[in-house]
Formats: sequence, C-alpha cells, structure tokens
Amino acid sequence: MTTENPTDVVVIGGGIAGLTAAAMIGHRGRRVRLFEKAGDLGGRAVTQVKDGFSFNVGPHALYRDAAGIRVLAELGIRPQGRAPQPSGGHAVLGGVKHAFPSGFLSLLSTGLLTLPGKLETAKLLARLGALDPAPWQSTTVADWLASLTRRDDVRRLLGALVRLTTYGNAPDRMSAGAALEQVQRALASNVLYLDDGWQQMVGALRDAALAAGVAIESGVRVDAVEQSATGAIAAVRLADGTRLPCAAAILAVPPDDAASVLSGASRALLDGWSRAATPVRAACLDLALDALPVPRSTFGLGVDAPLYFSVHSAVARLTPGRGALVHVAKYLDPADRGDAARDLAELERFTNLLQPGWRDHVVHRRFLPHVTVAHALVTAERGGFAGRPGPAVEGAPGLYVAGDWVGAEGMLADASFASARRAAELCLRDVAPLSAAA
Ligand SMILES: Cc1cc2nc3c(=O)[nH]c(=O)nc-3n(C[C@H](O)[C@H](O)[C@H](O)COP(=O)(O)OP(=O)(O)OC[C@H]3O[C@@H](n4cnc5c(N)ncnc54)[C@H](O)[C@@H]3O)c2cc1C
Repeated sequence: MTTENPTDVVVIGGGIAGLTAAAMIGHRGRRVRLFEKAGDLGGRAVTQVKDGFSFNVGPHALYRDAAGIRVLAELGIRPQGRAPQPSGGHAVLGGVKHAFPSGFLSLLSTGLLTLPGKLETAKLLARLGALDPAPWQSTTVADWLASLTRRDDVRRLLGALVRLTTYGNAPDRMSAGAALEQVQRALASNVLYLDDGWQQMVGALRDAALAAGVAIESGVRVDAVEQSATGAIAAVRLADGTRLPCAAAILAVPPDDAASVLSGASRALLDGWSRAATPVRAACLDLALDALPVPRSTFGLGVDAPLYFSVHSAVARLTPGRGALVHVAKYLDPADRGDAARDLAELERFTNLLQPGWRDHVVHRRFLPHVTVAHALVTAERGGFAGRPGPAVEGAPGLYVAGDWVGAEGMLADASFASARRAAELCLRDVAPLSAAA
C-alpha cells in the first residue's frame, strides 16, 4: 500500500454537490482533492451528446430563484438558458388534451374544469403565493389539498402541479410544506432549461474548482474513509489501495454509497439514514427527433396520470439545426416497484397524443426505466425539510455529507447545492488545515 502526502480535504463524488463543495473550500486556500469513480464528472447532471443532440438524464430544469442559482452566483457562474412558457401547453385528462391553465385566459377557456372548478382554481392560485409553508411541513400533500378544497377536479390539478415541480408522486407521504415551497417558486419565478444541457453547469463548476486549485481525478473510486479512535477523519483509501491522510472528508454521494465507505458507529448511523430515505424515481423516455410533427405542441402534463411531456429544445439550444429534443417522463409512485414494459407503453401513448407521427422522426431514443431523481423524498412523517440528515455527521469530526438527500434547504439539485455549500462552510469553520506541508 502506498501512502500519499496529506491533504486538507478529500471530496468524494464529482456530481454537482462534490464539485460545489470542492470549489468553495479550494477557493479559501485549503488543499482539496476530489475523486469521482465514473470516467466523467457530473453524476446525474451529466449530458450525453449524440450527433449534436444534447441528452440530459431525463428532463432537467433549474429553478430560477433557489439555492442552486445563488450558490452558482457566489462562484461567479451564470447559467445560460431560457424559461419555458407553459402557454399553449396541454393538460391531459382521461386521455383527452385540454388547454393547460397557465394564466387567466387559458383557465377561462380550458375544458379541463367546470365553471365552479375554474373559479375555485383561480381563487386558490391567487392565494397560494402568500401561504406560509412552515406550518405544513409535517402535513401530507393529500391532507393539505383536502384542507384547501373539497373539489376533486381542483385537487387533481394541484396534485399534478406538485408532481411537476417536485417529481414526487407520493401525496400520502410527501411534506405539504416542502411541496408548497417548490410550487410557489415555480409560479413566482419559473425555471431555466439550460443551453447544451446541464453539462454547461458541470463544466463551469469543474473550471471553478480547478481555478481554486482543486486536484480532480475521475475514474478513481474511494473505498474507505478511515477515522481515528476519537472518530475524527484520518485518511481515505482509494480502490487501488493508496492511503491519503486528510483532516476532512465530504461524502457527496448517494446515502448507501456514503454508508458503504464507513465503518463502526459512523457506518451504523449512515446505514440508518440510508434506510430512512425513500428515493424519488422516474421512468424517462428521451427522444432526439429530426423534426416535430406538431411544432406547436411542446408541453403536456397528465392530470389523472403521473405523466410529463416537454420539448426542451423549443426553449434551450440542445439540437443541431431543426431537430427536437423531447423529454417524456412518468413520476413513479415509491410504493410501485415499476414495470418497465408498462411504463414505456404509457410514455409512448402519451407521446402519440401530443406528437402523433413522432416515430417516423426518431434519430436517437433512450429509455431509462427506473432512475433516481432524488435520493430522499421530503416526507411529512419526518417533519419536512428539517427531517433530512447532515451535512455534519455526529461523532465524526471532519466528516460531512452532501447531496439531494441532505440538509434543511431545497429540493432536487437545489438540495445538492445548498448542502454542499453548508458542508463547505462547516468544514472551513471547524476543521483546521493540516499543518504538515506536502
Ligand atoms: C430524470 C431526472 C430528472 C431530474 N430533474 C431535475 C430537475 O428538473 N431539477 C433539479 O433541480 N434536479 C433534477 N434532478 C436531480 C439532479 O440531477 C440531482 O439532484 C443532482 O444532479 C444530484 O447531484 P449530486 O452531486 O448530489 O449527486 P450525483 O449526481 O448522484 O453525484 C454523486 C457522484 O458520486 C460518485 N460516487 C459515488 N460513490 C463514489 C465513490 N465511492 N468514489 C468516488 N465517487 C463516487 C458517483 O459516480 C456520482 O458521480 C433530476 C434527476 C433525474 C435523474
């Protein structure tokens, strides 16, 4: 076994959380090394380019007024892209398309709701922005919606909005406070679809980390994090047996991966965190088309089925020439183990409804039957955001976790950004740099 020179901080995982934490700590003059086991950086924010079509891993939208944008700004990064306009989109009920009620006129004209349903929806949408999410953190989405309205049609529509903004399809478990925050964010300031996909952001984070002196190595797996008898971080061990002494380690990886590199009491604690986390999953059909059969049909949301359709290239630069990049997704119920053939058939039927004839235009297609969107549903039973663990790990000075399952702020990638920033702050505050110079 070889032992390398000590470093101040080792970051494990080269997704958004790891790159963010590394850049922030490196920026403050600490020696940082980052290890990513995959060949490429980015984790689930990676973008694959095929014949000029930029494929994110399923539909990805960056909230415009949330932790991610703020953390990126602190690092001098301004993501380039545009906000989708839901006007002209469809809401689908019972297999029939209706105007998506995105504003006053479409709400008035849509066949989705009866007149009393429209009036109630208008009233609720006007009220939603002013509601305080805090008292609803321990209430389920289902109970909250029932308290808002007795009308099934209005509840169904609001439930679809919750799915769209959170990816969560678990109204009996999801925290209403957390969902409300996300819906408010979407209604007030929308999202961005990024030009060239989320790789744009990954590349900018990598450059910020490199400029801050971080040493980045991809294709290198960390196998173990060693702690001293007091629990303090002592070293990490790489898959090839190399031992790297360090004062702090940030595990910016999924919860089961985080647990697997630890031992003793920290392992037991992280195993518990991993078991308590309910993954948010989706089935995704990503399509590159040479043209859109129905150019104006660029957005559809299932109201009585957990389905999503959006032409991301109608908004962001993702294709060569006049092709189209389309994301179709099914929000999976955590209680449902998923059935790939059934889910693919549903996604294809939904695509037929919104873009009849699409099959004649396929250049590339990719089906992801069961991807993890976020590693932890924000649940009412755990008290909403406050129930998520970390970033500090009790009993393990110098050990932190970061990711979309960590910390009390934000959902999806915003939770990864926010927990990475918090882990970096705590590490800078509480862990002294190693005095032994390399
Ligand atoms: C279909 C889909 C749609 C999504 N849509 C949105 C959206 O619209 N808006 C939004 O905000 N978010 C969205 N997300 C979520 C977003 O992609 C993630 O929250 C974010 O990318 C997670 O980043 P991360 O760094 O926390 O984790 P990851 O991206 O999972 O990164 C963890 C990294 O750690 C590496 N790793 C694990 N173990 C080790 C080890 N032992 N040694 C070294 N490396 C290791 C992994 O290879 C991986 O690269 C979506 C995700 C999916 C899948």
